[in-house]
Amino acid sequence: MYCGNCGKEIESDSVYCRHCGGKVGAADPNRPPTGLYYAEDKSIPGGAALGFFFPVVGFILWLVWQDKYRKRATSCGKGALAGVIVSAVIVPIVFIIMLVAMM
Ligand SMILES: [Zn+2]
Repeated sequence: MYCGNCGKEIESDSVYCRHCGGKVGAADPNRPPTGLYYAEDKSIPGGAALGFFFPVVGFILWLVWQDKYRKRATSCGKGALAGVIVSAVIVPIVFIIMLVAMM
């Protein structure tokens, strides 16, 4: 078999290429992607907003898209992460405010 990264011949059971050190089967992320469906890959501002307000949806989209639509996936993933962090901060604050208000 051949390394998907540098194209040199490697042993079929190797996990990492001994020529370039890249993971076998994984293409170089810095290499411009080829193929038709990569042409549509753009970071979408809506993805970040969607991920922010619906972190679960954003996370699922990130999982589904990360192979084919890396930039899209990243925008959704970042939005989801921001949403999770914000809710992790806001929920305890709201909880404390409610607790104080009840006393
Ligand atoms: Zn290689």
